[in-house]
Amino acid sequence: MSFEIIDFHMHPFLDGAGNICVHDGVLSLRTDQIEEQMRALGISHICGSVIRKNTGEANDWERLKRCNEDALRLRERLGDFYIPGFHVHPDLIEESVREIERMHKEGVRLLGELVPYSSGWSENAAEGLSVLLDEAEKYDMVVSFHTDETYMTNDMIRRHKGLTFVAAHPGEAPNLMRHIERAKISENYYLDLSGTGLFRYGMLARAVKEMGADHVLFGTDYPICTPAMYIGGVAQDPYLSNEEKALIFAGNAKRLLGL
Ligand SMILES: [Zn+2]
Repeated sequence: MSFEIIDFHMHPFLDGAGNICVHDGVLSLRTDQIEEQMRALGISHICGSVIRKNTGEANDWERLKRCNEDALRLRERLGDFYIPGFHVHPDLIEESVREIERMHKEGVRLLGELVPYSSGWSENAAEGLSVLLDEAEKYDMVVSFHTDETYMTNDMIRRHKGLTFVAAHPGEAPNLMRHIERAKISENYYLDLSGTGLFRYGMLARAVKEMGADHVLFGTDYPICTPAMYIGGVAQDPYLSNEEKALIFAGNAKRLLGL
């Protein structure tokens, strides 16, 4: 059985500063190989934000804006193969609200992946984040976030029940159980499979049993992680039906992003 596959969580790049593969010294990945490699694996669409190393930008906001610019330029280059995601900074509310409006006008609905630890958010950023999530909710955006309970607290989920959240990385068993608990707070809380977690036997079966196959999305975190492993982890899971696999691989991403 072959499935349509959408990678809901990855980080494409336009140049070396955006290539976050830790083994790139060996691979020398180029932008034009991203689509080629993904299509060879049967992936028809990719989603996510650009994450750049600092290359002399004056501050974190300048760097995040550069990431957002790269995402728009990549969309020009890759067409509808790529669904861009963008960054905001909750310590800079005015700038971020303008960025949300601009991205809405650009037809971008995916906010994130938000990665506080590499984006320079302060310890007091939660209040600002709440304001930005209110803005994102106005435009019916989908928020992809690196699971981080400093900012994305249960209370934050509770305060934005109308907003679609996709938490990244199932993590180890205790983290997965917290995702499952949070999914009870809001119908609009989803989990993507990128990063750590899927390699634990039974992790996916538990997420599907407790959250529902309609609340789990396929994601990889390429080029940090190896997409083929994630495809195998879903496609070859003996505890899931083909209908459940089809939802995880593409059905849920299509529904959430209106593809
Ligand atoms: Zn990521």
